Amino acid sequence: MRKKIVAGNWKMNTNLQEGVALAKDVNEALKGIAPKCDVVVCVPFTHLASVNAVIDSTKLGLGAENCADQKSGAYTGEVSASMVASTGATYVILGHSERRQYYGETSAILKEKLGLALENNLTPIFCIGEVLEERDNNTHFDVVKAQIEEALFELSAEDFGKIILAYEPVWAIGTGKTATDDQAEEMHAFIRSVIAAKYGDAVAEETSILYGGSCKPSNAAQLFAKPNVDGGLIGGASLKAADFMGIVTAF
Ligand code: PEP
Repeated sequence: MRKKIVAGNWKMNTNLQEGVALAKDVNEALKGIAPKCDVVVCVPFTHLASVNAVIDSTKLGLGAENCADQKSGAYTGEVSASMVASTGATYVILGHSERRQYYGETSAILKEKLGLALENNLTPIFCIGEVLEERDNNTHFDVVKAQIEEALFELSAEDFGKIILAYEPVWAIGTGKTATDDQAEEMHAFIRSVIAAKYGDAVAEETSILYGGSCKPSNAAQLFAKPNVDGGLIGGASLKAADFMGIVTAF
């Protein structure tokens, strides 16, 4: 059975003290319950070590929101996968649409990042998704397929099996406009078929595919009820412990 996962993406929000307090709140809320999914928070680099120190890693996973495409050396301002791993984090978001759009991250760059993340035993949460224009002109399936093929299909089946995918239609991120549960299911089933054609049914069946884009407590249960939706990558609603927990408990 593939894993169900709810992962928060805090983006560039919270200062260190606020972030540690938020992590403590989520950690505390998880104490009393046995969620039906893995729970992860992906936080700014500056927060990783401090958050790691206040959470119970058996109940709450920790991840970064990015890592460098180089191993080490003269890359001022960059944070390597090995540095991320040294904080205790075990996940890293890669290929988020905001990284692709604002920082020019191409599939070639993402391939380097993925390789380094895997070398350092980080689990990549790899984001894919179309912009509104692509959905409107009906090229969204081709776009998502190309994103997967270009960045991931040189991986061995073993390495591919270590990756979590997140389908995030760009038009739904931070806009309040959620994909319907049927739209999400249609794309997730398509993504699984693309994986099956390359790596076989067994690998495809084991791949967790999260939905991201204005997911909130009020719509999470409906989305997560779909057979190919294995959880969520949560932006805005991960910044309040109560909202985030409302999504975690939607399973
Ligand atoms: C995200 O950026 O990964 C995301 C899903 O954001 P939001 O939930 O705010 O749409």
